[in-house]
Amino acid sequence: MTAMTSSARPLLNRRLAAFGTTIFAEMSALALRTGSINLGQGFPDTDGPEAIREAAVRALRDGRGNQYPPGPGIPELRTAVAAHQQRRYGLSYDPDTEVLVTAGATEAIAATLLALVEPGDEVIALEPYYDSYAACIAMAGGTRVPVTLRPRDGRFHLDLDELRAAVTPRTRLLLLNTPHNPTGTVLSREELTSIAELAVERDLLVVTDEVYEHLVFDDAEHIPLATLPGMRDRTVTISSSGKTFSYTGWKVGWITASPALVTAVRSAKQYLTYVSAGPFQYAIAEALALPDSYFTGFRDDLRSKRDVLAAGLEEAGLTVYRPSGTYFITADIRPLGETDGIAFCRALPERAGVVAIPTSVFYDHHEMGAPFVRFAFCKKKPVLEEAAHRLKTAGAR
Ligand SMILES: *Cc1c(COP(=O)(O)O)cnc(C)c1O
Repeated sequence: MTAMTSSARPLLNRRLAAFGTTIFAEMSALALRTGSINLGQGFPDTDGPEAIREAAVRALRDGRGNQYPPGPGIPELRTAVAAHQQRRYGLSYDPDTEVLVTAGATEAIAATLLALVEPGDEVIALEPYYDSYAACIAMAGGTRVPVTLRPRDGRFHLDLDELRAAVTPRTRLLLLNTPHNPTGTVLSREELTSIAELAVERDLLVVTDEVYEHLVFDDAEHIPLATLPGMRDRTVTISSSGKTFSYTGWKVGWITASPALVTAVRSAKQYLTYVSAGPFQYAIAEALALPDSYFTGFRDDLRSKRDVLAAGLEEAGLTVYRPSGTYFITADIRPLGETDGIAFCRALPERAGVVAIPTSVFYDHHEMGAPFVRFAFCKKKPVLEEAAHRLKTAGAR
């Protein structure tokens, strides 16, 4: 080490020390080294609609968004976000005061937590949780309070008594995610109603990460928490174009919330990125206005991909939690005689030429997540079929 300081003090501060490297880096490197099919990281191997890419090119060529766009986001996109919330969910938001464009949902999460959390505040998050939640709560100086989703009857469930018991006088906010990454659970109206009642009763803010709002299958329905009684003005709803339109590299996200909450989040956001992705904002404004056929077509395609991978994992002997939403499948490796997902995922590339992510890294209670492994199915069908074939023939069973 060639640290320039004389003390033995570590370079990385205490708040972030636990977040050194992500499992994704390790697993993607393994995928590369072994030539494996990478079902670890969740990004599509096919770009989104051509017309939307062309819209971005046009904006670039026409010089729209090439210089700093407005801090809250371009009016066209804020209007499109508000129209989308109205059309799909009957939620009305003022594009000028109740919509804020961010650099993906990632910045929306960071800015929201940095704006709303005081050091020492408790933030309740569903476990397993998306990895940036833990890091952002830590950066805000908050304390993470996980409430574990429990697998039962083929689905991960929220235990409402546990959630209720997790609320203390120091609880500042609930951080939800539905459809839920990595379990694929879509919270039901019943579960959301109970959450809403609890939030009203205890006067809590709620932040909901709904980036998979359009990736919902079978008879599951995505219900924004903000549509439930008493929730509109205490909820920050976060979404993003990345997952919905298969342009995860563009990083165009947004929040919808009351003017007071938008103003608070903007206070943090303006000193993080200030603005982002000017030309892409124009393209996503057009994307949000695509006809319903785009959204249903995308969903149906993903559902059939889910079914290919789920069948392959089942044939390979794993227990599959068939997701109602997202593009991830969580599977239990215990039927293979395995109990440690981290060891399993480290060995899988050599053994089967497939990379997956051990779900335990998304838990504080690592032991609760030990036997679970996450596979992404936002890949071309032949890729999924090949992965399924490899898992089966590698004698996973
Ligand atoms: C992918 C993802 C995000 C990040 O979205 P970006 O728009 O790419 O920043 C946030 N939350 C969840 C649950 C995700 O899976």
